Amino acid sequence: MRAMLYLTNGSILDGSGGPAFPGGVLISGDRIEAVGQIDPPADCETIDCGGQAIAPGFIDIHSHSDLQVLDGYRTKTSQGVTTEVVGNCGFSPYPSFEDRDPVRKYADGILFGSGEWGWRNAGDYLAAASERASSTNVVSLIGHGSLRVAFMGERQEPATARELDAMAGCLDEALAQGAAGFSTGLMYAPGSCATREELVGLLKVVARRGKVHATHMRSYSWDLHASIEEQLSLARESGCRLQISHLQAVGRKNWHKQDLALEMLDRARDSGLDVEFDSYPYLAGSTVATQLLPQSALDGGIPSLLSALADPETRARLAQQTEAGLAQEWTDVLVTGLESETNQRLVGKSFAAVGEEWSTTPVEALFRLLELEKGKVNILSFNQSEENLRKLLTHRLCTVISDGFNVKGRPHPRLYGTFPELLGVVCRDKGWIELAAAIHKITAKPAGRMNLSGRGLLRRGFSADVTVFDPGAIRPRATYENPRMTPEGIRIVILGGILLQEN
Ligand SMILES: [Zn+2]
Repeated sequence: MRAMLYLTNGSILDGSGGPAFPGGVLISGDRIEAVGQIDPPADCETIDCGGQAIAPGFIDIHSHSDLQVLDGYRTKTSQGVTTEVVGNCGFSPYPSFEDRDPVRKYADGILFGSGEWGWRNAGDYLAAASERASSTNVVSLIGHGSLRVAFMGERQEPATARELDAMAGCLDEALAQGAAGFSTGLMYAPGSCATREELVGLLKVVARRGKVHATHMRSYSWDLHASIEEQLSLARESGCRLQISHLQAVGRKNWHKQDLALEMLDRARDSGLDVEFDSYPYLAGSTVATQLLPQSALDGGIPSLLSALADPETRARLAQQTEAGLAQEWTDVLVTGLESETNQRLVGKSFAAVGEEWSTTPVEALFRLLELEKGKVNILSFNQSEENLRKLLTHRLCTVISDGFNVKGRPHPRLYGTFPELLGVVCRDKGWIELAAAIHKITAKPAGRMNLSGRGLLRRGFSADVTVFDPGAIRPRATYENPRMTPEGIRIVILGGILLQEN
């Protein structure tokens, strides 16, 4: 048996949010043996932390790395993350049966998938994760969009009673097999056309299993308040625990709506509803370009969209609807990922700039790019204000997340920088949050939202997931222009007692 591992001479932030205290952490196998002032056994391996912070490994409850975690990627490890919750916004790599094309077509843009992938249900995916994921604990949500596509294809009709039954059965099986909860993506086709009856039916299954519903709501811009109201009412009717994903008010004209949004959540929470939210520490968001269009245009998937664009009358109508729905300015929406090699030089440019280059309107530039890239275009958009971001991140109900996903081009810097951004920029440089409170928002708090027992705190008997960092030196190096940069200041990352990183 391996000797014990002893981290000594640290400043302990145990995840509870309480103040730091001096001491060490003793690890035996994959568990924490002792925390604080320790009299270590003679034969243990010792690492002197030099007074730096010792914290529980960070927990990212909103990630889209469902496929990358299987291949030992270190993008999050280098930020101190030891647990990722994947399957968000309705996109999970299961369920899928004989024909896996539909789920791949639906989810490739968010999961950065290519080629052959797909699992029958949560059990098969989690088995693959426990066999192959070497750099993180993998926790998975079953996505509503994937579930719908498996049983209904890309059809945008209400589910029939038989289809709803089949989806509920499959969802129940996934939760029984170890999925931590259920995610919805109500801004993405075909999840966007789910009726209230469908959602209540499925959420009741989740509630019966005591698991959580994480939702990408119908709108974060014009209909922010109505979307929150819908979610609160669904949670009340179904009895399901609710996590509102990447909360924000999108677009300058909607910024004033955020205060009331937070008030609504505070009131619901105070009335006893189990609701919280999460946010990433950046002003910009990122997604697929088809999000800018009315989702009805995706009835039948990308092929239908492309044939709709081929008809001049429909194209003009879609242009008008896209303009009307846009909450941001075209100068604030940037191309970040493109499928083909031919257009890579456009990555980093706004649709306003691409339109100018092509002597056309921004919306027409968007349509042409979607045509050239067969729908595979990723975007980044500057959505919110600094003041609103501060109010989100400092809110008592807020967990901090990455929402990171990869693209062929320039990913959002959050993929490489979220946790150092929080600890170095938000805490230390801006002084918005105390360090201990910030650590709580990326350890014990997210563990609680996802029912991850034995994780998120430095406590005897807890999983030996530990991150040691230098509070004075931690900083992200990833920028919007140069996003694939690993951060500085993360010194040690230990996953289940195994040393993954030591600088
Ligand atoms: Zn989302």
